[in-house]
Amino acid sequence: MTSPLIHGYEVVIGFETHAQLSTQSKIFSRASTAFGAEPNTQACAVDLALPGTLPVMNKGAVERAIRFGLAIGAHIAPRSIFARKNYFYPDLPKGYQISQYEIPVVQGGSVSFYLGDQKKTVRLVRAHLEEDAGKSLHEAFHGMSGIDLNRAGTPLLEIVTEPDIRSSAEAVAYAKELHKIVTWIGICDGNMQEGSFRCDANVSVRPRGTDKFGTRCEIKNLNSFRFLERAIEFEARRQIEVLEDGGTIEQETRLYDPERDETRSMRSKEEAHDYRYFPDPDLLPLAISADWIVEVKAGMPELPQAKRGRFMRDFGLTAYDAATLTSSRELAAYFEATVAALGGEPKLCANWVMGDVAAALNRDGLDINEAPVSAAQLAGLLRRLGDGTISGKIAKEVFDALWHG
Ligand code: ADP
Ligand code: MG
Repeated sequence: MTSPLIHGYEVVIGFETHAQLSTQSKIFSRASTAFGAEPNTQACAVDLALPGTLPVMNKGAVERAIRFGLAIGAHIAPRSIFARKNYFYPDLPKGYQISQYEIPVVQGGSVSFYLGDQKKTVRLVRAHLEEDAGKSLHEAFHGMSGIDLNRAGTPLLEIVTEPDIRSSAEAVAYAKELHKIVTWIGICDGNMQEGSFRCDANVSVRPRGTDKFGTRCEIKNLNSFRFLERAIEFEARRQIEVLEDGGTIEQETRLYDPERDETRSMRSKEEAHDYRYFPDPDLLPLAISADWIVEVKAGMPELPQAKRGRFMRDFGLTAYDAATLTSSRELAAYFEATVAALGGEPKLCANWVMGDVAAALNRDGLDINEAPVSAAQLAGLLRRLGDGTISGKIAKEVFDALWHG
């Protein structure tokens, strides 16, 4: 944060992130979770809690919560409880959301990342399973709103941090790292435009050197990393201005408006007791056996931090190169396949993957798994380069020809 106004204040941020779990069916019903269907064609009687229906736990959603807990070093509760969170809103006609309150499935854990060469660790409070609500549609209804209940009952993992974050840059780095973890372990598709990964940032400010936290505001609607950064910067400045003018901060929920680049008050913040949480009488406690955890653990991929460390140790890559090559699981796999096919020379492979391959992907708007040059082809090219059959200049020409071939 560079504004002179921010000088003398410290920003404090905690995150609540909703990651949509990538199951085919809903958290308590057999209805499909596929995105983009005709409104109200994918909500069944259970999703609407019609009389006489009963929710049935989706095992795939629980398994994904366990994977997440293992990835962040959390405690996985052997027994957790579903609760009803009661409120009325047009997109929630049943009048309550099934969530977890007192005993969540994932407890504690942490997420670490680098800002430059500074390591930062953010502690997590919890991650709990819950169902999503429907969606209000405000366009094309001439002064009225439409309701699409397809999203009702979609499985979510709500991931809550301690207020450990101290700048918008740290906030973005945390959100990116969390996004990488959930996509890496295959529990969430991470599509922010479609709402699969939604961040709410709780922001407060306090005079530098004091240790009591200020009153926080929760900012919603942060569906890109850039908006997240801008919203936090705007909100911190707004709060400081209020305090400097002798005012006080009201605890409230605010909405970020990307068009005007500002946050606006949406509603005053409700307290937990307003929701009248109580254990859902339709659902048994969620029991997770130690054996199941062992089984899930055995199926986990190598995690980004571990892979990054191994690339530095075994391949002699710099911290920067190792971080770049582990920015996604697919990119890391492509790089490792190239090294394996070439039988060594990891530094040469890294330079080509981060250089020519990345540039061509970028130019053509492609993902690494759509690269027209396979890892084996790249290795073949690098072998000719390494044994002096072709020069660096020719290698680039051959690469282009292969790419466009
Ligand atoms: P609630 O139950 O009202 O949602 P929580 O205690 O669960 O409140 O906190 C919600 C989020 O707000 C957490 O991510 C937490 O880290 C963050 N938070 C709490 N107090 C502050 C504060 N003073 N400033 C910034 N973030 C905060
Ligand atoms: Mg909360």
